[in-house]
Amino acid sequence: MADDVFYMKQALIEAQKAADRGEVPVGAVVVCRDRIIARSHNLTETLNDVTAHAEMQAITAAANTLGGKYLNECTLYVTVEPCVMCAGAIAWAQTGKLVFGAEDDKRGYQRYAPDALHPKTVVVKGILADDCAQLMKDFFKKKR
Ligand SMILES: [Zn+2]
Repeated sequence: MADDVFYMKQALIEAQKAADRGEVPVGAVVVCRDRIIARSHNLTETLNDVTAHAEMQAITAAANTLGGKYLNECTLYVTVEPCVMCAGAIAWAQTGKLVFGAEDDKRGYQRYAPDALHPKTVVVKGILADDCAQLMKDFFKKKR
């Protein structure tokens, strides 16, 4: 739990970087054996790519660092509940554990594809949920 909070704070730092560049503020880190092996944030505007979600990039970066495509010994931390696309990618990577902060009622996988994750993936939700949600609220308030 203490570790989950620590790493979620790192994901929040990434989310803030996204906000600073005008991106929807979602951040992610991948942890393997108590070490952060990938950090990323949403870059859909910067890359002009709707698939450039924080989780997608974190998965790719982590696999590059590990030299293997499976993340079964890793934990993916992400500030907001993954969408269906990312949940699929998290499943393909056979991610060991998924920790997310705020739930996303509109786009989150839990509503549309609750069984999308790999059956072995451990899920922890609600870590620093208020902080994660606040970043999103502030961002969309400013946009309006
Ligand atoms: Zn996504």
